[in-house]
Amino acid sequence: MNCEQARDIILTDCLDERPAKAGAELTAHLAGCPSCAEFLLTARKDLLEPFDVLTREKMPVTVTQAVMSRIRQEREEQLARAEHSWWQDLREALAALNWPVLVPAGALAGILAGWLVFGVMMEDKRLQLAQNERVLFLAQVADSVADKSRDMADYGTTIETYFLEEKENS
Ligand SMILES: [Zn+2]
Repeated sequence: MNCEQARDIILTDCLDERPAKAGAELTAHLAGCPSCAEFLLTARKDLLEPFDVLTREKMPVTVTQAVMSRIRQEREEQLARAEHSWWQDLREALAALNWPVLVPAGALAGILAGWLVFGVMMEDKRLQLAQNERVLFLAQVADSVADKSRDMADYGTTIETYFLEEKENS
């Protein structure tokens, strides 16, 4: 192991306090190389110690509690929304309805429906009657035409007879 390789390992694995892959080789190099041994001490002093004096900031307990409470609340709301099904919506909608107002409204709707059905039935009957009347009327027209043609035939025959009789008389 040369000095460059030794210092690479010092700056990576040693400062991270990870066991160096080439731990034994590095130890052997440091034992025989005061320069690299010094490098290791300087690196630890300059690169690690400044962080040791820093105090780890702690979040106030009230802030932590507030954040956790909000997270739990949002999660519960999400779960509630996920579990919300259409029949729950329907039940809520029915519960929200004003039933005392709906009772007369329903009765009125029933009356209107009955009236409509009755009206349709009566209209149907009226149409049937009208059709019967029309048939009767057509029958009467047919009869009257027949009567008229009979009358005309009779009339024609009467004239014919008259002329024939007059011819015979003359
Ligand atoms: Zn060295």
